[in-house]
Amino acid sequence: MHEMALCESLVAIIESEAAAGGFHRVHSVRLEVGLLAGVERDALQFGFQVVTRGTVAEGALLQILPAVAQAHCLSCGWRQTLSRPIGLCPSCDGPLSVTGGRELRIKEMEVE
Ligand SMILES: [Zn+2]
Repeated sequence: MHEMALCESLVAIIESEAAAGGFHRVHSVRLEVGLLAGVERDALQFGFQVVTRGTVAEGALLQILPAVAQAHCLSCGWRQTLSRPIGLCPSCDGPLSVTGGRELRIKEMEVE
């Protein structure tokens, strides 16, 4: 499961931040997740509960903040925010330039 691996790298980041920042408990983690990243929120929540056991983030609340993508058609100028991937411009079938929507990063952590 791809979400489990994501959670493991998330915990590795949190643990190294804890070592560097001198905190020993994480209360909540705000995670920005791109809507095109192909991540299942439920699986992410579940994986987070499992992999944080016995770590500084055990019992922490995981808040998932969805990040949208911006699509821009290179031939007709059509623009829209996307919540799921699309291939071609719905207005003229032209090539799209898509920015954002694939991020997966910790925005904020509440620690002590
Ligand atoms: Zn177009």
